[in-house]
Amino acid sequence: MIDRGEGAWVYDEHGQGYIDATSGLWCASLGFSQERLARAAYDQMSRLGYYHTQAHYTHPMGARLAERLVEMAPVPMSKALFQCSGSEANDVAIKLVWHYHTILGKPEKRKIIGRQMGYHGSTCASISASGKPDMHRDFGVPLQDFLHVSMPHYYRFHEDGESEEDYSARLAEELENLILAEGPETIGGFIAEPVLGAGGAVPPPEGYFARVQDILHKYDILFIVDEVICGFARTGEMWGSTTYDLKPDMLSCAKALSAGMAPISAVLVNDRIFDALLVQAGRVGHFAHSATYCAHPVAAAVANEVLDIYEEMDVVARARETGAYMQALAEREAGRAIVGDVRGVGMLCAIELTGDKATRTPLPEIDRMAEFIAERGRAHGLLLRAIGPTLAFAPPLNSNREDVDEIFTRLGRVLDDVELALA
Ligand code: PLP
Repeated sequence: MIDRGEGAWVYDEHGQGYIDATSGLWCASLGFSQERLARAAYDQMSRLGYYHTQAHYTHPMGARLAERLVEMAPVPMSKALFQCSGSEANDVAIKLVWHYHTILGKPEKRKIIGRQMGYHGSTCASISASGKPDMHRDFGVPLQDFLHVSMPHYYRFHEDGESEEDYSARLAEELENLILAEGPETIGGFIAEPVLGAGGAVPPPEGYFARVQDILHKYDILFIVDEVICGFARTGEMWGSTTYDLKPDMLSCAKALSAGMAPISAVLVNDRIFDALLVQAGRVGHFAHSATYCAHPVAAAVANEVLDIYEEMDVVARARETGAYMQALAEREAGRAIVGDVRGVGMLCAIELTGDKATRTPLPEIDRMAEFIAERGRAHGLLLRAIGPTLAFAPPLNSNREDVDEIFTRLGRVLDDVELALA
């Protein structure tokens, strides 16, 4: 039971402190408590604690946030649509793929391609676009019209002697073959995280997205970039799209948008999509998608304050600097027999554990081992996120070197324990 937090640390109900290596669920980008955000929420609740954004209404906090997001977008965007979570943002983006092609007279162009181990949320459409077998099993999902291609995980899946570029070319060929087999006239959209987060903190291999984008362009397939983890400096640029030169038609973001302190997400849409919304609005009087808490003014006020803080602290420079320090500390573990791969970008990194460095096979009995690692982490005052054989690190963006030292000193003790247990 986590009772309170300060900086990158959280404290349980007995007062025991733990440093959280992944900002909770990759979201507490300014740590686990912030007076300034509390004040922003209080002020907004005192002035206008609720209003909706249905049928032509809006409020200053939502309008201001939308303007700021459009202005800071990695590619020219037209509008921002707000929801409460990353899952809902991706659901809206998927609905907009369907809507867009329908408006253009191609309602059959509705299949969505995601990637194995991609994660886009837990709602019916977003989990269908995700490629997480454990979250599909027993739910009757993925729904019809959702397809998946291989995840781009070079370390785990490249063939002997295959370069990153060659591996990317192989995956691009798989994507194109799937599109051709299904019929390009049936494929509406492709969704991807710049860096696979919950799938194992995996940055894309060299050349991957350039090839993928060429294919999407060739077959008129809309590109949804899921920036729910990568957005707001996590990759050492404001957007993962900037880091990897992605040109999304729609971009979803959440988590660090409000530093995890209020439930709010956004989908940025380009002119192409917005023009299609106007067509429907012309027919029924407004764009017929809404929810009670869309653009909630209190969450929007918190998000606006978060963006102010990011500007003041120069969050991109800070993430780059502390991120480089973190990557160097992670690299120091590469010599261990159980460490197969160390990878990362910006303030996001991963250590993948292996049972055999030569064959790159994951650490044996990984489920039991992941539990052991989490337990040893807690014993050493460190909350760790194990994704199969991978340990992911994404501390708050305002962490300093001391915080990062704390994480990696404690991690060293955990890895010593793992080595001892395997000896
Ligand atoms: N997209 C990505 C990349 C995520 O990592 C997550 C959550 O971890 C989501 C979407 C879903 O966001 P939420 O949990 O806010 O619904």
